[in-house]
Amino acid sequence: MSYSVSPIGFVRSCFKEKFAIPRQPQLAPAARGVLELVPPFDQAEAIEGLEQVSHVWLLFLFHQALEDKPRLKVRPPRLGGNQSLGVFATRSTHRPNGIGQSVVKLERVEPGKLWLSGIDLLDGTPVLDIKPYVPYADRLDTAFNRIADAAPQLIAVEWADAALAQARAQALRLGEPLVELIEQCLAQDPRPAYQLPDPSRRYGTRLWDVEVRWHYPEPTRICVVEVLDA
Ligand code: SAM
Repeated sequence: MSYSVSPIGFVRSCFKEKFAIPRQPQLAPAARGVLELVPPFDQAEAIEGLEQVSHVWLLFLFHQALEDKPRLKVRPPRLGGNQSLGVFATRSTHRPNGIGQSVVKLERVEPGKLWLSGIDLLDGTPVLDIKPYVPYADRLDTAFNRIADAAPQLIAVEWADAALAQARAQALRLGEPLVELIEQCLAQDPRPAYQLPDPSRRYGTRLWDVEVRWHYPEPTRICVVEVLDA
């Protein structure tokens, strides 16, 4: 038996590549985007009341990780990539039906558009549904997860002087908290856990329309070296 679903909108996100997107929402509050609703959901009626809600759940498709053959086991990067777990014990992007869910902050609402922050979604992500966060039901004080019991440990992020000046100038041009976004995303240490970084190796990703490059002077320290027009 199969069912078909269709997107109610698409996210225009600060994240133009998968690399360096935080592994969960809320880890980078400066990560912003707009959910653009498609007809007929772009009409005012569809979002009436949403201005009374601070956060929403987004159900979406991992459109850049869809696979024909379902996996039963996956290797979460958080566990170093060398331990496999049942797919349903993880938040892996490689999963049956490719459905993700994120709770994100609703900054502003207008017909056809929802301004979001704290997102972990790639640009162009198709959204299947929006549901209001309901604190009394969704916040569970007794919940635990022994596989992922705390947010990832942060590492230090430093700046080359020129890179910080470039980031500040780009932030002004974009009207976005770019310095904070870079710091919050890189502090999560985007490199795969099993990779010991060579200090001379440059890493990079694209945020909004800028290319950010960094290296690891030591495995526990990142230095941002360039923030350029992509
Ligand atoms: N919070 C969601 C969940 O639990 O279902 C997503 C968790 S998943 C581990 C987060 C990762 O998904 C991000 O780091 C990013 O690399 C990846 N991602 C985000 N949007 C995506 C998309 N549209 N297609 C494929 N991968 C995506």
